[in-house]
Amino acid sequence: MELKKYGGVFSFDKEKTVEYYKNINDENHLCQCANCKYYYAHIKGMFPKLEALLSDFGVDVEKPDEIWSVDWNEKNVVMILEAGYTVCGNIVGELPKDIDIDDGQKFIVGFGKGFCFPNSQAGDYFSISVEGFKMYLPMTDEPKEIITDKKSMKRKK
Ligand SMILES: [Zn+2]
Repeated sequence: MELKKYGGVFSFDKEKTVEYYKNINDENHLCQCANCKYYYAHIKGMFPKLEALLSDFGVDVEKPDEIWSVDWNEKNVVMILEAGYTVCGNIVGELPKDIDIDDGQKFIVGFGKGFCFPNSQAGDYFSISVEGFKMYLPMTDEPKEIITDKKSMKRKK
């Protein structure tokens, strides 16, 4: 289908993109670090405008190809520097300008052609990057989940 919206012209396969996201799961390539797992579990419902944009393309907000996050210098806050999604298809002509979204927080949505971050796309694709928002973790005194390196858990004989 072709979509003229968000300052650009997009030619993409929405059904295929929906399928792509259906096939992403814990076993294949979703990062399982504590910050990413928190994102998968809590992003839905947080930013309705962002979700509406992503769903125009058939993208599942809960399953980004990649998340780049840092623990912020406030307690219980994770800063999402970038969450990257991909769409099966192409951007026709000029790359659209970044979009400022005010969705409770202000952040940027940008479109990209070519490789922007690791993903599992096999054919033509373009990317949608969401940049610069905070996720507020539940206030608790318990430490965040500890990541254990499986290799180090092997018992020595
Ligand atoms: Zn991660």
